[in-house]
Amino acid sequence: MKKTLSLVLAFCMICSIIAVVPAIQASAHATDPDGNALSKADFIIDVGHGGNDPGAMSTVLGGNRKESEDVLRLALATARLIIQSGSTVAMTRYTDETVSLTQRTDMANAGSYSYFVSIHRNACGTANLATGIETYYHNSQSSTSVSAKLATSVQNAAIGVGCWANRGVKTSNFHVTRESNMPAILIEYSFIDNASDNQKFDQYFDQNAKAIANGMLAMIGKSVTDAKTVSAPSVTVASTSAHNQSINVSWGAVTNATSYNYTATVYEGEMSATTGKTIVSSSTTGTSFTIPAQASGKYVKVSVTAVGPNNKAETVKSVMLGKDAVYPTDVQYIPVADVNGSQSVSNSTVWNSSVGTAFGMTWWRAFVCSPNADGTYTVNSIYENGVAKSVSVTGTNVLWAIHSGYTGYDVAATIVVGDKLTFCGVYIDNKTVRGTGYVLVNGGVALHPDDLTLSDATVAVEDDFLVGVGIGDTGSEIVSKFNESADYVKVYDAAGAEVTGGVVCTGYTVNLVVNSEVVKSITIIISGDVNGDGAIGSSDILVVSGAVDGSSKLNDVFSKAGDIDGSGTVTSTDYMALCNKI
Ligand code: ZN
Repeated sequence: MKKTLSLVLAFCMICSIIAVVPAIQASAHATDPDGNALSKADFIIDVGHGGNDPGAMSTVLGGNRKESEDVLRLALATARLIIQSGSTVAMTRYTDETVSLTQRTDMANAGSYSYFVSIHRNACGTANLATGIETYYHNSQSSTSVSAKLATSVQNAAIGVGCWANRGVKTSNFHVTRESNMPAILIEYSFIDNASDNQKFDQYFDQNAKAIANGMLAMIGKSVTDAKTVSAPSVTVASTSAHNQSINVSWGAVTNATSYNYTATVYEGEMSATTGKTIVSSSTTGTSFTIPAQASGKYVKVSVTAVGPNNKAETVKSVMLGKDAVYPTDVQYIPVADVNGSQSVSNSTVWNSSVGTAFGMTWWRAFVCSPNADGTYTVNSIYENGVAKSVSVTGTNVLWAIHSGYTGYDVAATIVVGDKLTFCGVYIDNKTVRGTGYVLVNGGVALHPDDLTLSDATVAVEDDFLVGVGIGDTGSEIVSKFNESADYVKVYDAAGAEVTGGVVCTGYTVNLVVNSEVVKSITIIISGDVNGDGAIGSSDILVVSGAVDGSSKLNDVFSKAGDIDGSGTVTSTDYMALCNKI
C-alpha cells in the first residue's frame, strides 16, 4: 500500500509542475487583493495557475471545477484576513489571468516581501483516490530552514481545521519555491478530484482561509483578529418636543466605530412620512448633536449611523413635535397606545392592513376609517360589541379599536359614521402605524393640529362646532348671537346656498355685508372654549374683526378672541390664525 501511495503522490504533483508559457503578458508587479500595485508587504501569496492555465480540473468527477478558480477564491479570502489583522500581503494575481512561473518569482524578487506562499490544489487523476493537504519547500534554498518553519506552520494550521488528512511537510524542486529569494512554500490544499475534499473545501471555506492566514501570521508573531464590526448605536432623544425648542440627541460610543453619520428630518403631517425635509445632515466623531428648533412639523425622524471599518449600523428614532412638550391637558382626546405594529390588543389601538387582518372583538368598539388628504381619517364603519366579532382592515384604511372600559370610551361611543378622527402623535410610515398619541374627534383641522381646544364634552362629540355658537344652532341664531342684523350677516352652506334655519357646521361661510357689498367672507371654523373660561360663549367668537364700518356692531368682537397663536397676547395674528384657514 505504501508503494502504491507513493506512486499516487508522484502523479499528483503534475498540477504544480506544469509551466504554461503565457501568450498574454501578465502584470509586472504584485498587487494587493484589489489590484493596486504593492511592492512591499509582509507576505506575497502566489495564486496558482489562472488565465490560459486552469490547473487541475475535476473532470474525473464529472464536473469542470478548476484549480485556478478554487485557489484564487481561497487566496483572496486568506489575504483579506491578513489585512483585517493588520498585516500586509501582495498577490501574484488577483483575477483570472495568465502568469508564468518565471513572472511569479520575478514579481516576488522585484519587491520586498518577507514570505512567499504559493497556494494550489492537488489532483490525482483517479476520482476519490487521494485525499488531504501537504506543504512543500525547497531543500537547497538559502532560507531553507525558515521555509521549513513556514511550511510546518501553515500545514499544521490547515490540519487544525480538523477535517483534513495530514499528508505532511515535504521538499520538492518546484520553480516557485526554488527561485524565490525569500522563504517560500507551496501548499496543495486538498484534492480537486476527490468529491469529499471538494465538499470540505467549500463547507469549511472560511476556516480554511483562516487557517492559512494564521499559519502565515504566526511567522511574524500574529494571528487572525476578528473583523471589526459595529452595532447600531443606542440613541437617547426625547420622544416629544415642543416647537421652537432645540432637541438634544446623544448616544453611547459604539465599539469599533470610527465616526457617526447623523440626520434629522422634519415631517409636516401624519400622511407625509416619505416627504420630509432634512434639517441636519452631518458626521462626527463625538456622540451627540443638536437638532435646531422647529417652528412647525408633526415629528422629526432622527437617524444615527455608526460607521466602522467593515460595516455601518443605523438607529432611527422619532420625536413628536407639538406646541407643548406634552399634549395639552385640556384637549378632549382619547389616548392611543401600542400602535407599533403589535398585534397584542391594548385598550386603545390603531392598526392598519399590514398588521393583521382580523380583530376579534369582545367589549370593544372599533372604527374602520379611510385617510383624507388633510391627514384626518373619516369613520366609514363602526363595529360594536356583539355586532361583529372580527374586523378586516384593507388598503390604506386604519382600524381604531377602543375597549369599553377605557378612558374616553364615553366619547368614542358617541362617534358616528362620517366623523373625522385625527391621530395626533401617530403617523403612518410605509403603511406602518407608528408612535403613541391621541385621537382627536372632529375639529382636528380647525386650528393648529396641536392646538385643538375641545374642552366641552358636549361639543367634542358632534360633527363640527362653531366657535361661540351652541351645537345645533341655525343660521338665524348665528345672526342673533353676533348681535347683528340680517343685513350685515349672511350665512351660506358649503354649496353656497343661504341658510337661515339650517344647522351650521364647518365649511359654511359667514359673509359680512356692508352697503350691499361683501366686505368679508369667513369660512366657519369650529373650535371650542377658545378663551379657556370653561364655557363656550360669545367671548369665544373669533370669526369677525373690525373690518366692518361703523354701522356694524362687530368691531369689538375681535378683542375677545383667544390667544390662538400662543404668542401670549391677543393680537391680529390670532385673527390670522383663523383667516389662514379660510
Ligand atoms: Zn497546481
